[in-house]
Parts: sequence; C-alpha cells; structure tokens
Amino acid sequence: MKILVINCGSSSLKYQLINSDTEEALSVGICERIGIDGRLNHTPAGREKVVIEENMENHEVAVKVVLDALVNESYGVIKSLNEINAIGHRVVHGGEHFASSVIIDQEVIETIEDCNELAPLHNPANLIGIRACHAIMPDIPNVAVFDTAFHQTMPSRAYMYGLPYEYYAKYKIRRYGFHGTSHSYVSKRTMDILGLPRDNSKIIVCHLGNGASVSAVLNGESVDTSMGLTPLEGLIMGTRCGDIDPAIINHIANTEGKSIEEIMSVLNKESGVYGLSGGISSDFRDLQKETIHGSTKAKQAIDVFCYRVAKYIGSYAAAMNGADAITFTAGLGENDRKIRTQISSYLGYLGAEMDETKNQVQAEEAVLSTDDSKVKLLIVPTNEELAIARETTALL
Ligand code: ADP
Repeated sequence: MKILVINCGSSSLKYQLINSDTEEALSVGICERIGIDGRLNHTPAGREKVVIEENMENHEVAVKVVLDALVNESYGVIKSLNEINAIGHRVVHGGEHFASSVIIDQEVIETIEDCNELAPLHNPANLIGIRACHAIMPDIPNVAVFDTAFHQTMPSRAYMYGLPYEYYAKYKIRRYGFHGTSHSYVSKRTMDILGLPRDNSKIIVCHLGNGASVSAVLNGESVDTSMGLTPLEGLIMGTRCGDIDPAIINHIANTEGKSIEEIMSVLNKESGVYGLSGGISSDFRDLQKETIHGSTKAKQAIDVFCYRVAKYIGSYAAAMNGADAITFTAGLGENDRKIRTQISSYLGYLGAEMDETKNQVQAEEAVLSTDDSKVKLLIVPTNEELAIARETTALL
C-alpha cells in the first residue's frame, strides 16, 4: 500500500509518501511559507531535490501542490492519485480522548477541535490539513496519529499536577506528554534489538532534538514523560526553558514590566540553550564549536542541558525501580556523541557504562554500552513518519 503521511504546522506542511510493504519513502518534502508566498521542496527517492515556487494561500492549496508534484511526469513518483491508499496525519494533541490512532470521521474532527485550547498553535493547523485532504480526495481514508496518545497509559500519580483539583476537573489541566509516536517507535525497536520481552522491560527513551523529552516505558507502556500540558515542561531545549520555578513568571512581570504573552514567548522562543548561551545558537553543532573555541557560556548551556537529562533519567529509573536500557534518539541523541558521553558520565551508579569505541557511530541503530554494562545504552534513529504510516496501515 502507498500511504501519504502529512504533518501540518502553522505555516508549513511536511509530507512523505511511504510504500508500506517495503517501508521505503518514495518521496519526501516540505511546503514552507504557506499564507505568505509558498515554496515546495520535493525530493523523489534517489533523485535530485526539486524546488517548486508556487503561491500557497492556504493549506488546501499546499496539499494540491504536493499532490501535483507526486504525479508530475518528470519528478513525480506515482502515475495517478488512485495509487494512494490512505493518508496518515500527525495530530499534536488528543487530550484524554485518544489513547490510540483512529480513522477520521466527523465526530473525530469535532473531538480534535475540542482539544484546540490545549494546543492552540498546533491542532488548528493539523485540522486544516485533514480538511484539505478530505476536500481534495474525499474517498481516501484519513487516519489521525496523536503525539499524546502513547502517554495516555500514564498513571494519575504521574500525570496530576499539585494544583487545585478543580483545574483538572474543569479544564483537564494535567500532564499529557508529546513525541509519543517517537517514544513508542524507539522503545519497541529497543526491545527488538535487545530481545527484551514486552511484558518484562524497563526502557528510558531520550528524544533529544530541538524539542526534547524523556519517557519511562515499563512493559511497553509509557508510565511517565517529561513534557506536560504543553511541550514547554521538562528538559532544557533549543529555545524552550523546560522546568522552572513558576514564581519566576511573576518576578519577570514585575521587574521587566512584561505581559504574560511576552513572557511565554521568552520561555518558548528565547530560552533553552539559546538563551543560556547568551544567544549564541539553539543548534548544538554551533554550541560545540564555540565550546572548542573557549566559550564558557556555550559550555555552560551544554552542561545544564546534560545535567537535566541525567536528572530525568535518574527519576525514571526510580519510577520503574531500575532500567534495562537507555536509548538516545532524534537529531542530537542520534548524532552528537559528546552529548551522549556527557549524559552517560552521570549514570555509573545505575550500572550503565559507555564503550567510547562503539559510541563513535551516528544516525544508525547501535548498542553503545560495554558488553558487561548492566544497563544497555543504545541509539535508535527515530522515524515518526514511518511510525505514522504503520499505524495507518494497521487501522486499514
Ligand atoms: P526537531 O525535529 O525537534 O526540530 P531535530 O531532531 O532535528 O529537532 O534535532 C535538532 C538538533 O540536533 C540540533 O540541535 C542539531 O544541532 C542536532 N544535530 C543534528 N544533526 C547533528 C549532527 N550531525 N551532529 C550534532 N548534532 C546534530
């Protein structure tokens, strides 16, 4: 089967056309600057990237541009749209309504809409993508795969905040967690690679990208994760602050005269390693380079980041009474061996020992720990698009 995977952001639309039998991506691409002007970067597998400049006033137009590219005579990858069997959509927030992926119907659309308040930047964009696909290809099934679904197995002791109960009862304020498709995919691969039985496994997944989160996966189910009601909580990220004392917000409001909206923008867009480094970069490659050139701020940003990851690993080992494996994934987890080394340097007490020769690899599945390390350290490259295609195929 051929599955089109769509990931709509507020002004972008990423897609992959995946052959679910071979699990190969036939084509990958991204529409950018939707609503401004519009550009599609389209890369058919094994061929040169094609850049298509075309006005995209909204996501429906962007979907049409993508579909045209897929069937284009010179750079297309299919002869007709009839070859597409289904469309899998990434949806950021499913609230407490969705613990797994679902085939989309009108009721599902309305329920996703009910969750808009919980993810005001993401869910409306996801819905625009769903509606656009439905309008253009009404006969093809659409499937929603939620970032939050995998974490719906968390027990209430992990998802409740220490706030008045009525906030949960009235507004569903609780920890939801994100990157669920990635945590699910990576924890399953870790079990396969190590031959761990699903019903007797303790895995800590460190998804370290620009957005970053850690999860505790006990017997195949998420029992805790570091992101919360929104993706702002938990680890220090590229530009997000992660955990802070909530009283800081009041303090900044009083001292800098900033509004809540302005402060939230600082916490989301100007903090994390970017803010900590004094604005050097949110990209760890730049920070590592600056550290080599002697920047103490860049070094400190990396130190704070790694220390926070190590603290979360420790708390999740406590939550599960141990760990069989700690798996690194996403841009940084897959590629930056120095970060993996630095995080692992805190884990001796757990019995996790890095083999630095094995740790030289990047972006491939690998066990990185010494042969007698009690807790295994791994890299599993995440593949959220493939996971969405698999979910979509399974539902059909
Ligand atoms: P997101 O999907 O959340 O935008 P990614 O998973 O792409 O983020 O991760 C981005 C981070 O990964 C950046 O900080 C970047 O520096 C880091 N990264 C990506 N490739 C490499 C690499 N080859 N070496 C070191 N770090 C890398």
